[in-house]
Amino acid sequence: MTKPIAFDLSLSNWEEWTLQESIPKYRAKQIFQWIFQKNITAPSSFSNLPEAIRKKLAESFCWEPLIIDSKLISEDESQKLLLKTSDNLLIELVIMPYENRTTLCLSSQVGCKMGCTFCQTGKMGLKRNLSSGEILAQLLIANQILENKKVTNVVFMGMGEPLDNYDAVVKACSIMISSDGFNLSKAKVTVSTSGLVPEIRKLGTDLPVRLAISLHNADNEKRSKLMPVNRKYSLDELKEALLEYPASSRYGITFEYVMIDGKNDSLQDAKKLVHFLHGIKAKVNLIPVNPFPGMPITASTEQRIREFQMYLTKRSIPAPVRYSKGQDISGACGQLAAKRKEEVHMDPRKLHRKRRLNII
Ligand code: SF4
Repeated sequence: MTKPIAFDLSLSNWEEWTLQESIPKYRAKQIFQWIFQKNITAPSSFSNLPEAIRKKLAESFCWEPLIIDSKLISEDESQKLLLKTSDNLLIELVIMPYENRTTLCLSSQVGCKMGCTFCQTGKMGLKRNLSSGEILAQLLIANQILENKKVTNVVFMGMGEPLDNYDAVVKACSIMISSDGFNLSKAKVTVSTSGLVPEIRKLGTDLPVRLAISLHNADNEKRSKLMPVNRKYSLDELKEALLEYPASSRYGITFEYVMIDGKNDSLQDAKKLVHFLHGIKAKVNLIPVNPFPGMPITASTEQRIREFQMYLTKRSIPAPVRYSKGQDISGACGQLAAKRKEEVHMDPRKLHRKRRLNII
């Protein structure tokens, strides 16, 4: 029988376990803090626990739900890790160092069913959801790799649509922001969605962390072609939910906008975007689409991007151009598709190497 994953347990779950095992309740908090506050994942090292409890923990739970299959380090120092689940599926995470912070881009699902046409993960389809423990294991692994530093910002922008795995993502986020857990501020945890309206509303009630929207077009017909989710939830419905999202007035909402040559980069497109954003405290990240092998679309030209950017900034909408980190290792936006090192073949001429990337 497979053992339960230790990192799937919340503090109250650990309290239930201690009760069931006739262990004093205060031990639950100690176990929880060893894992999520100190990031120690070997029960034998839980030094303030009696030997018998350490042994029981080691025997009863799985402590290594993800193992590192391979690691790629980019010229820009970002690291992409390929991780293997206990049922032999592959997921990816990307660690991106900046001067004053370290951002972890993590995965919420193996693959994704949303089918966005510019996204390599979307081509895989959905294999399965990750559990909250498997999501948190990515943060634990990243912190363990970083040794003296720690992850300061988490973005759910790796594989998967986070709000399609709602319960696990919310449980993981609540442990990320818990003072007995990773103790990150709500403002440092960003959930990115393609636009699942009912779940955006629910998140606003349950745990209003920062929100990022993969928008990519502000015209219903064109967006539906790029992102099938738009056929279910139109831009009007999306906007209504965003206007009501509680954290939006405080932190604003980030909009991701991949710039695709001839598809969404005209001044007419910029005009529609400004109209859509009216009334929302918004920042738009303009991201030249990242190439992947066999992709039938290309990035907008530098001139088009600048014109588009100027149109937005003149109307007081911040619109930084983001060149993704880790393009040389297929770790950039839309390139995550769980491939081993030898399978990553990028044409160096297609990489945007001019600037360091900045996702959020
Ligand atoms: S962009 Fe996000 S939601 Fe769309 S297919 Fe890719 S992973 Fe899924």
